[in-house]
Amino acid sequence: MTAAFLQIQRLRKTYDDVVAIDQVSLDVRKGEFMTFLGPSGSGKSTTLYIVAGFQEPSEGRVLLDGKPLLSVAPNKRHIGMVFQRYTLFPHLTVGENIAFPLRVRRRPDAEVKAKVEQMLKLVHLSECRDRMPAQLSGGQQQRVAIARALAYDPPVLLMDEPLSALDKKLREEIQLELRRIHQETGVTILYVTHDQEEALRLSDRIAVFNKGRIEQVGTGEELYANPSSRFVASFIGNSNFLPVRVTSNNDGRMNGVFPNGHTVSSGSFNPVLTAGDEGTLMIRPEQMRIHALRNAGSAAGLPVTVRDITYLGDAMHYAVATPWQQEISIRMPAGHRHDSGLSIGTQALVDWDTRDVRLFAQA
Ligand code: ADP
Repeated sequence: MTAAFLQIQRLRKTYDDVVAIDQVSLDVRKGEFMTFLGPSGSGKSTTLYIVAGFQEPSEGRVLLDGKPLLSVAPNKRHIGMVFQRYTLFPHLTVGENIAFPLRVRRRPDAEVKAKVEQMLKLVHLSECRDRMPAQLSGGQQQRVAIARALAYDPPVLLMDEPLSALDKKLREEIQLELRRIHQETGVTILYVTHDQEEALRLSDRIAVFNKGRIEQVGTGEELYANPSSRFVASFIGNSNFLPVRVTSNNDGRMNGVFPNGHTVSSGSFNPVLTAGDEGTLMIRPEQMRIHALRNAGSAAGLPVTVRDITYLGDAMHYAVATPWQQEISIRMPAGHRHDSGLSIGTQALVDWDTRDVRLFAQA
């Protein structure tokens, strides 16, 4: 594992009696694409702005390449920044916009010219050099903003919801561009979004923010397979959360009962829970299987009633009701439908592999 390049250590920021962030710590590797994901108000921007130098923390520190960053004036940090709204200078051409940070740094003309060409090429806008920003689409303007932010080879590029003003199709296009640009430049990126799909598509790792704290950090795959809390599980992907009362919890195995008395066990052990406690089982829709009663043979399973069936092309989605009238989702490969024997209103059995179940302490 490579050493941390950007170290965020125990940041706290308060506004009067509002705690915006608390205990925020994170190590980011050089060249890593790190995304801050979380709902609005969870502290993502505050953390980003402290790294940028727009805000000062109440406590904590940030190290860049081993050196304290917060004592460095914002304009001396040389950190690139791209915002949600395109912040191009409207009276300067695209080329002049990209050249601007280099001119401020008094770089020689020849270097500025070469760098502008290189950046235009990087964002695939070479033909737009002499246009004014108003003559570009929103997506193109944001690519110019990225080129401008990268023109002076910043050690870190900060991006605050840079694609949220664009429509879905354009957003997906620029996400691909951004991945390519990240790969080609190797720049370290901190990226803020509340869109889980965007986070999964772009990031090497994701830090999930909740109420001013980082709840979990990991690759998209790690967060999806092993969420550390119900919050993370519900923020990344779809989940069914089933209420369970614990009857025993030891040797790495939990046994419990659902509200209808049906017994259940989980391969995921949660040391916080003991017999008699209420917890929550999480099972992803694609990890559940549904069988019509007549096909189930002697198979055990949770009895359910089919409420709705949706054909999704590559998958079938079943909405079913548990005996305690909770609606849960099941996703099966579409091929399954031909002999499923399932229709709306039929009784069915649902089962799953106990290894795919996660157990959380919160009810
Ligand atoms: P996010 O970027 O995840 O939407 P923010 O970092 O913007 O979250 O905000 C975190 C919390 O701090 C929120 O509760 C927000 O209301 C509060 N906050 C942010 N900026 C200010 C401010 N200037 N004054 C008071 N409260 C603020």
